[in-house]
Amino acid sequence: MLTGATIGAAIVLLVVLCEGFSGFLWQDTDAVPRFYCPTCDLRYTKFEVSGLTRVCPYRHSTTMPDGFQWKTAMVTACATFIVSGIVMVATGFVR
Ligand SMILES: [Zn+2]
Repeated sequence: MLTGATIGAAIVLLVVLCEGFSGFLWQDTDAVPRFYCPTCDLRYTKFEVSGLTRVCPYRHSTTMPDGFQWKTAMVTACATFIVSGIVMVATGFVR
């Protein structure tokens, strides 16, 4: 059962990674406004923000894309689950 769950987590991890690289499944393309400026109360695309600090056209600082964190958390959670699953099966802790 744990082996099956580990394989399932591996599949989820692959899907999330593929989505991250292609940006295709959920239309998470670069044209989607993702940089939020609290001062303007607007979202900007990566083409509208400028510089390493991602300032908006009115020189306010914007917050980082929020679509990124959950993806990282998902990958971390799946990777941790897979590794712990493999370790437990390999050591005979769980059959
Ligand atoms: Zn602004």
